[in-house]
Amino acid sequence: MDALDAKYPFFAAAREAVADAAVSLPELVAADAPAVERARERVERALMDGTVESESGTFPTESDYDVQAELLSYPIARILVSLLDSEPAIEKYAAAEAATAIGRIREDLATDDELRSVSTPTVELDDVLAEFDLAESVRAESSEAGSAGTGTSAVGAPGRDPAHYWIDVGPYLRLTSPSWGVSWRLVNRALSDGAVRVSREELLDALEAAVEDRVREGLPFELAAGEGIAAELESGVADLKRLLSERTYAGPVDVVAPELFPPCMTNLIEKAERDAALDPPESFALMAFLVGIGMTPDEVVAFCADTSLDAEGIRYQTEYLKDDRGTQYPPPTCETLANYGICHNEEDHMQVAADPLAYYEKRVADADEIDDWREENEIPADGGEE
Ligand code: SF4
Repeated sequence: MDALDAKYPFFAAAREAVADAAVSLPELVAADAPAVERARERVERALMDGTVESESGTFPTESDYDVQAELLSYPIARILVSLLDSEPAIEKYAAAEAATAIGRIREDLATDDELRSVSTPTVELDDVLAEFDLAESVRAESSEAGSAGTGTSAVGAPGRDPAHYWIDVGPYLRLTSPSWGVSWRLVNRALSDGAVRVSREELLDALEAAVEDRVREGLPFELAAGEGIAAELESGVADLKRLLSERTYAGPVDVVAPELFPPCMTNLIEKAERDAALDPPESFALMAFLVGIGMTPDEVVAFCADTSLDAEGIRYQTEYLKDDRGTQYPPPTCETLANYGICHNEEDHMQVAADPLAYYEKRVADADEIDDWREENEIPADGGEE
C-alpha cells in the first residue's frame, strides 16, 4: 500500500487504491476495524479543530496495516459526515481536509530533494497541478519579471520555487473568491495574455480550494438511516452529534468588547484594517470568533467596514457557520491557530484557555465594566448597509 495514497486520500490514485483494496467498507465497519475509529477521529477533529491530522500528530508509515487504516478512514469519514445530516458540517469537514492537505503539500515542497527518497513519500507542485488538471493552466513566472507568456507549462522550469506564477483566468475565477478580500478581485490583479499573476502562497490558497471542492464533491451520500452501513455507524454518528452539541456555544457570551479580544483576533483585525488580505484560515478563524461571541452577520459586516474584508464574503462565511438548527461551530482551537501561524501564544494564553472564544469569555467574566461596541456604534438592524 502506497503511503502517498493515505497522505492524499482524495487523489485519483488513492480512490483507485481503495477500489482495488481487497476489503469491503461495510465489512470493515461491521468489524469495527481501526479505520473506523480513525474515521471518527478524522471527522471530530475536522469539526472541532479544523484539521484532520491525527491527535497523536504522527502520520502512519510504519506498516502497510497502519497506512491502509489511514487510507480507508477517508471514505468512512465521508460516510460519517454524510450521516451527520448537516450542510455546515460537510463544509467544515471539506475545509479541514483541504487545510490539512495543503499543510502537508507545503511541507512536501519544502523537503530537500535528498530527503525525498528517505522520508515519507512527497509530492511536487507539478504532481498537485496535474492532479487538478492545472498543469497547462499554471506557469511559473519567467526570469523576465512579470511576463506570463515566457514561462513554460512546467512550473519548476525557470528555477526552483519561483515567487510568482501565472494562472489562466478561467481556473483563477473557479478556484478563488472575491470573498477572500479585495486583493483577489480581478480588477486588482495583474493580467496578461488571459492569465492572472499570483504569488506562490496565493497559488497554494487556490490549490487548497481545489482540494476542498474535490472533497466536497458527492457529499452527502444518500444513505438510508438505520440500514446497512448507516446502522453500523449509528453509535459513532451519535457520539459526534453529542460532541457537537456539547461543544456548541448555546449561550454565546453576546457582548462585543474589542479591547478584550485575544491577541490572535486583534492581530487579524489589525491586519485587515491595514487593507492586507486575510488568507482563508485567517478569515475563517476571525469570522468563527465574531459569530461565536454572538454577532449577527449584519453586525460583523458593520464591524469590518474599514477592513479588506468585503460584505459579500463576510455574509457568505458567517451564514455557513450556523446551520438551520442554529447550531454554531466553534472557532478553531489555539493549537490549530498556532499551527497556521495565527497564534503566537502571546502572554502564554494557551495556559489560560483552549480556544480564543474561551479566552475571551474569561476576560469578559473578569472585567468590571464593559462597553458593548454595538451600543456605542448604534448599529441598526441592517448593519448599516446602504
Ligand atoms: S493562545 Fe489562543 S487565544 Fe491566545 S492568542 Fe493564541 S489562539 Fe488566541
